[in-house]
Amino acid sequence: MVPLLWIAIGLLFLRLAASLWLSALNRASVRRHEGRPPAAVAAIMDEATYAKAGRYTLAKSRFGDVGEVFDALVLSLVLVGGVLPALFDETATWGGPESTWNHAAFIVLAGLLLSVPSLPFDWWEQFGLEQRFGFNQSTPGLWVADKLKGALLGVAIGFPLLWGLLSLVHLAGPQWWIWGFALMFGFQLLMLILYPKLILPLFNKLTPLPAGELRERLFALGERTGFRANSIEVIDGSKRSGHSNAYFTGFGRFRRIVLFDTLVAQLTPTELEAVLAHEIGHYRRGHIPRLIALSAAMMLAGFGAIAWLAGSSWFNPAFGFPPAQLAPSFLLFGLLSGSLTFWFTPLSNLLSRRHEYEADAFAREAMGGPEPLVAALRKLAQKNLTNLTPHPWFSGFHYSHPTLAEREAALLRG
Ligand SMILES: [Zn+2]
Repeated sequence: MVPLLWIAIGLLFLRLAASLWLSALNRASVRRHEGRPPAAVAAIMDEATYAKAGRYTLAKSRFGDVGEVFDALVLSLVLVGGVLPALFDETATWGGPESTWNHAAFIVLAGLLLSVPSLPFDWWEQFGLEQRFGFNQSTPGLWVADKLKGALLGVAIGFPLLWGLLSLVHLAGPQWWIWGFALMFGFQLLMLILYPKLILPLFNKLTPLPAGELRERLFALGERTGFRANSIEVIDGSKRSGHSNAYFTGFGRFRRIVLFDTLVAQLTPTELEAVLAHEIGHYRRGHIPRLIALSAAMMLAGFGAIAWLAGSSWFNPAFGFPPAQLAPSFLLFGLLSGSLTFWFTPLSNLLSRRHEYEADAFAREAMGGPEPLVAALRKLAQKNLTNLTPHPWFSGFHYSHPTLAEREAALLRG
């Protein structure tokens, strides 16, 4: 029988191969349309912008490939090299036989350690790739501060949470994983509320949209569509990047709409109204509770799987850890489950794209026609150098949003 370690590494490289193949297909599709854009493109981008978007897509795709190969190699070496079991043995000596804080420390330390190799890639993405295409607004100082803050937050939040989760085994016995799920799910809901209030301000400044025509129009839209917004906020995304976006966070009473300052600068009031109508569409069509329920179901399944693996006599030892130890199973699950969930990406994106169509249709109704949203989407594609000619398999697999052509067709059809 093939040892589990090699099966895990095989799955890692199977995923890598599929991913590289899809991005190669996508690059071929971009090159095929180089200098020969489809007729519909003329309405969206001029020739120079289209050519630049092509170069941006190709550069990003090649950079992504290198990063993925590197990540797979690093993880394989870590798994084969026995670094993590050595770290576990070391941290196990920090506490008594019943203590769990040191096991939580093991997972946190391993997470920090594993995030180090990709740091040069993150740096290059920001100051090489994004810089070259005019998107970078960050500075080396801000970049370092972001990474440090991120790591500190990860420890400050991750450590107590993991400590609590690992302690549940002693408190709740074999059914711990159901309680673990409840703890984690409760934490996730809490974060939906607290994240914009406590964590986001550590990285960005959020200001209420100032009074004026735009604010009047957006609140009027809220009234008209049955979405009483407590506030509409503008986030200083321009501090780091020229890319623009709008999003929606929270649920129920805690919902809030956040617009990037770059978006406010790029779109006309009517176009912004259409974008906000789309975001309200997500809310009014019930997408948010549906996604929360779906992620809860996945999380419960994940906890069940971890409990099963941790309880087995074969899982931990296959990777050099002692059996019947929860912390290593947790970490291994976190590192390896992506090789399996990757294959379900198209399914979750299919659902996501269906939601996008529904939100677009809602925006069309609210705006009395498709034109404002179409204009907004075209401008966003232009400003963000969106790839207008992705390979259909690549977009089918990876895109959470339909392509611009698909969205326009659906908007104009209805
Ligand atoms: Zn959307």
